[in-house]
Amino acid sequence: MSVLPGLIRTEQELGAQNYKPLDVVLTRGQGVWVWDVEGRRYLDCLSAYSAVNQGHCHPRILAAMVEQAGRLTLTSRAFRNDQLALFYEEIAALTGAHKVLPMNSGAEAVETALKCVRKWGYAVKGVPEGRAEIIVCDGNFHGRTLGIVGFSTDPEARGQFGPFAPGFPVVPFGDAAALEAAITPHTVAVLAEPIQGEAGVIIPPAGYFRRVRELCTRHDVVLVLDEIQTGLGRTGRLLAEEHEGIEADVTLVGKALSGGFYPVSAVLSNSDVLGVLRPGQHGSTFGGNPLACAVARMALRVLMEEGMVGNAAAQGAHFRAGLEGIGGGLIRAVRGRGLMLAVELHPEAGGARRYCEALRERGILAKDTHDHTIRIAPPLVITRGEVEWAVEQFEAVLGH
Ligand SMILES: *Cc1c(COP(=O)(O)O)cnc(C)c1O
Repeated sequence: MSVLPGLIRTEQELGAQNYKPLDVVLTRGQGVWVWDVEGRRYLDCLSAYSAVNQGHCHPRILAAMVEQAGRLTLTSRAFRNDQLALFYEEIAALTGAHKVLPMNSGAEAVETALKCVRKWGYAVKGVPEGRAEIIVCDGNFHGRTLGIVGFSTDPEARGQFGPFAPGFPVVPFGDAAALEAAITPHTVAVLAEPIQGEAGVIIPPAGYFRRVRELCTRHDVVLVLDEIQTGLGRTGRLLAEEHEGIEADVTLVGKALSGGFYPVSAVLSNSDVLGVLRPGQHGSTFGGNPLACAVARMALRVLMEEGMVGNAAAQGAHFRAGLEGIGGGLIRAVRGRGLMLAVELHPEAGGARRYCEALRERGILAKDTHDHTIRIAPPLVITRGEVEWAVEQFEAVLGH
């Protein structure tokens, strides 16, 4: 007899219902594939929202984690550990960061950056205390903490969770003139995603971020790019900012920095922003622990040594071309860069969820977002043959 209905019922009875997962109960994963409790195999086209870019249970990351777990896992930052400096050195060499602050979840990295740019604004830029403004974009997603949902524009994310912190003017995403108009002498930072993931893989017009970079430089405003989802190879470059040839002052990474094993995030800074912190002003019991550092070091190493960034560019182009070739009139638009892809359906298609359920029946796990969009983001180790097989399944479900 199947254990599946019982597990789902227990989840519904005992768990807070803050998610509405597809009814598939997974028990094992390897590379791009996951298996459910009944032995059915699926191609994972979500990758835990891009936290599993390196593929499920990557053997080298697993080995690094097990080795470190048997030696030393947590010291707190009250003492030094022998993994932290190596993590700093390696992530700085890879990204060009001058300073690094390790945290755990993505939301914590965002909160850390918000604190630091405010302090920078008062201590360095000379903004009157209590008046700092951080410009954010309409449709943003930066996490779920109270500080962050306070400047979300999604009613579901913020409704009935207030009151919220002031100081976060919102501008339309992709509109540099609107951003310029919103900058005041109290503006300390602009916070944006290079591509808005949760909003449905929204790519701003070409040249937008170059203009944002210029405006930030001209007005002495810190450009903070949230690359928690777009970073670490997802878009076919190590960081999505490279597509526009710019460098943020502060870059936030998380998700795939974990290799899918153990949450690790980081604030990377190439300006003096992180330099404003003094002992006692910020911290985390688990941030920078040796287990996290060992996992993150190997997660970065396999990403580079195994050519995953280039593979994301190559397979992403095939995947996108395949999706664009699907006829039949349900699809309104195919968007994406690298392996961060989305298919937006016409409203008449009746919502993306039913198609995600049909895809599940054909061995593909993908996630609907904002009613009419199916997000597609497989692990970066996907092969050409697997892309072709996946496109066939999308064609079977959407091509009529
Ligand atoms: C997932 C995500 C976050 C939050 O990360 P958590 O680890 O879930 O807290 C922040 N920003 C972006 C762009 C994300 O995709």
